[in-house]
Amino acid sequence: MKVKEQLLTLSPYKPGKPIEEVKRQYNLDKVVKLASNENPYGCSAQVKAAIHAEIENMALYPDGYAGELREAVAKHVGVKQEQLIFGNGSDEVIQIICRALLSEETNTVMATPTFPQYRHNAVIEGAEIREVPLRNGDHDLNGMLQAIDEQTTIVWVCSPNNPTGTYVKREELIAFMKKVPKTTLIVMDEAYYEYAASEKDFPDTVSFLNEYENLMILRTFSKAYGLASLRIGYGIANESLLQKIEPAREPFNTSRMAQKAALVALQDQAFIASCKKQNEDGLKQYYAFCKKNNLSYYPSYTNFILIDFGRQGDEVFQFLLERGFIVRSGNALGFPTSVRITIGTKEQNDEMISLLQQYVGEVKNKSLV
Ligand SMILES: *Cc1c(COP(=O)(O)O)cnc(C)c1O
Repeated sequence: MKVKEQLLTLSPYKPGKPIEEVKRQYNLDKVVKLASNENPYGCSAQVKAAIHAEIENMALYPDGYAGELREAVAKHVGVKQEQLIFGNGSDEVIQIICRALLSEETNTVMATPTFPQYRHNAVIEGAEIREVPLRNGDHDLNGMLQAIDEQTTIVWVCSPNNPTGTYVKREELIAFMKKVPKTTLIVMDEAYYEYAASEKDFPDTVSFLNEYENLMILRTFSKAYGLASLRIGYGIANESLLQKIEPAREPFNTSRMAQKAALVALQDQAFIASCKKQNEDGLKQYYAFCKKNNLSYYPSYTNFILIDFGRQGDEVFQFLLERGFIVRSGNALGFPTSVRITIGTKEQNDEMISLLQQYVGEVKNKSLV
């Protein structure tokens, strides 16, 4: 069998160890996963009942247009219904965009390190990938502009950026968009929008859609809304652009359960506000820990924090794993001496920080020997 050559350069997504396996291996009663930026508070309590009611309809295909959800999201975001595209997670919207715009004759520009799915999908499409290193955790927008040429069909801006947690400021984004050629699609991945949107200089990207035909914004129900398992996210763009992209979308790509859950979750903004507040308190706990121990970190506008321990991330990861906490090692994220930790509940953060304190202490003692 001859698969596309470029596939041989990719490895399939490596999920972390399942919780049950970690329990068995290290003989632990309790294992907490703070590795994938899932919402530690779950989702809105109203979602459960809605899903239960929807069980009656399992034999029926979902509405391929996601009409009901579309209406609600359009209203919530403040755009026309025709300005939305739904995906099986925003991951799938990324895949759809890549299928529609990339080929071997094109290139795509992105930051590094950033969310890996841009690169992954671009490799599959055979496009040339131009990665521009972050500068102090932020997108180097000028560097990215220099990397763009006539064959660049997509430029990716992850804001806030995963794994650094920092966002592109309004004025910088405007200056950037002005200079990007109209033939290049600017994708703003706002997976952590709900955590960052209240910042004064966080760009209201939806308001730029009128002026920029070549702009697309990605949002998801997986993070703040707590619906990661149901796989639903969406893109916001101009109608003319979406019409061109839509044929690359599978007809029934989002499930009934996901559409219904997202619809109900969207109505419960009090839940989102409460998660955001508690997340901010959690971030403060980590900031205090970092300051106390002189560890460097990026101020985060998401529900995770990247902390530099000045040691191999894998070592910190392993220390935590053996004590019942799964995090993401920076070795896999392009920050080899850091770990990325999802902000948990107050109790989880307290436990995590006390373990991290223990780790920092042990490392200090070792280096004295
Ligand atoms: C989690 C994440 C996504 C993907 O979310 P899904 O909607 O679950 O596919 C996209 N972009 C970034 C930056 C993320 O962190």
